[in-house]
Amino acid sequence: MALAFDEYGRPFIIIKEQEQKARLRGLEAQKANISAGKAVARILRTSLGPKGMDKMLQSPDGDVIITNDGATILEQMDVDNQIAKLMVELSRSQDYEIGDGTTGVVVLAGALLEQAEKLLERGIHPVRISEGYEMASKLAVDHLESISQKFEFSVTNIEPLVQTCMTTLSSKIVNRCKRALAEIAVKAVLAVAALERKDVNLELIKVEGKVGGKLEDTELIYGILVDKDMSHPQMPKRIEDANIAILTCPFEPPKPKTKHKIDIDTVEKFQTLRQQELNYFDDMVQKCKDVGATLVICQWGFDDEANHLLMHRNLPAVRWVGGVELELIAIATGGRIVPRFQELTTEKLGKAGLVREKSFGTTKDRMLYIEHCANSRAVTIFIRGNKMMIEETKRSLHDALCVARNLIRNNSIVYGGGSAEISCAIAVEAAADRYPGVEQYAIRSFAEALDSIPMALAENSGLPRIDTLTAVKSQQIKENNPYCGIDCNDVGTNNMREQNVFETLIGKQQQILLATQVVKMILKIDDVITPAEY
Ligand code: ADP
Ligand code: MG
Repeated sequence: MALAFDEYGRPFIIIKEQEQKARLRGLEAQKANISAGKAVARILRTSLGPKGMDKMLQSPDGDVIITNDGATILEQMDVDNQIAKLMVELSRSQDYEIGDGTTGVVVLAGALLEQAEKLLERGIHPVRISEGYEMASKLAVDHLESISQKFEFSVTNIEPLVQTCMTTLSSKIVNRCKRALAEIAVKAVLAVAALERKDVNLELIKVEGKVGGKLEDTELIYGILVDKDMSHPQMPKRIEDANIAILTCPFEPPKPKTKHKIDIDTVEKFQTLRQQELNYFDDMVQKCKDVGATLVICQWGFDDEANHLLMHRNLPAVRWVGGVELELIAIATGGRIVPRFQELTTEKLGKAGLVREKSFGTTKDRMLYIEHCANSRAVTIFIRGNKMMIEETKRSLHDALCVARNLIRNNSIVYGGGSAEISCAIAVEAAADRYPGVEQYAIRSFAEALDSIPMALAENSGLPRIDTLTAVKSQQIKENNPYCGIDCNDVGTNNMREQNVFETLIGKQQQILLATQVVKMILKIDDVITPAEY
């Protein structure tokens, strides 16, 4: 089996003599499947942890993605092998359920497969291995619960939440700004959270990016962002307590259509027409003012003369706003979209605490911020930076947002840096002796597989992996202290509690459960039939 790269630089897996064997049976099938799964895990292993490496992936149309997120790496890789696809699914389900821990879950599954291979070689039946793994995963999950801690937070004390999000972000490319981004993520989640129901609707958090500026300029907007500007440069840039008319009808005098004909043969006639058009538009502006609108947002345009008039009558307007955005504005501000000008009434106006226009950098780019909307708690995270950075920041923020949401749902945490895994490994190992059957081998192997996470963390940080692991493990046993982990950042202490490296309990538990499930599934396959047979 080998890992190769195609002409686009995407890794793919070649399994030896694949073409000659359309059908694999028994032990052979299991071994082939295990090596495919291990190959995928090996790719992700180097990405784990704060010092993990990033991957550069190129899509068929030439787009380059640089990422550290396990789910994204696997998503972008074109894996052909069926078992490898299961690993991709594994990472994806961790992403759906928890959001973070997508690399760790695959690394753990890979280690479990590796251990299973050894057990198979010793002649232990795959079903017994599965049973042993199942028992061990229960032990580990229960043990996690026993070493977990609750922490209290409130809207005024968000520090614990920020710390946990920082742990998530510390392993990403964006870790330079982890403090700022973690704060943004926590504030965004709290803004949309229903704390009494312990629920967070992440859909209310929109993540937008704009190329330019730097990552430090990323901000949280309590409202929505529209990529448009005021139609006239001299219109006010800041409107407080705005009453917004949202129009999907033309905001201009009716134009003669092609099938109509107007004969203008004298100057007087032309001037009457012009005056009439002017009056017509003037009436429209007056109507808007009468109902109390202080800002008009139109789906359609209006010509320069109308624009000038609007400026003179002091009615700020935004033109050419897309349908989707218009709908969003309407929902957020509690306004109604007005399709016919005659129907404009005071009740249909949307309300926003502040509408402001902001310009960026040297370009003439301007954007409209609609903040403190009446109807919605929707917030927008606005990311700045270069294109690749924005994309990676979006993915990293997704992880951080999920972690904050998980903590609001369940405020139990375990310590990271491999400390929880080592503690579980010790507990599972100790429990193995209590099982008289063959399963105890599998349970011991499970404990050994758990060690792969701290080992990978140590390896990626340039530490000798076996030495570091054994040192930390013996320290945990000696001091009976489940907080000792791998000091990846060379802080000087390996007490993860002092380093403030937290992870959510449900995230860790989910990793163990999902990895065990997939490995059990792979072990159960003893016949691989490919279409070549038929
Ligand atoms: P995943 O996609 O699985 O979340 P990451 O690359 O984010 O993978 O790495 C997460 C691992 O890194 C976790 O085991 C976590 O405990 C560990 N980790 C994160 N920050 C630190 C840190 N500052 N010191 C030690 N370990 C850390
Ligand atoms: Mg992570």
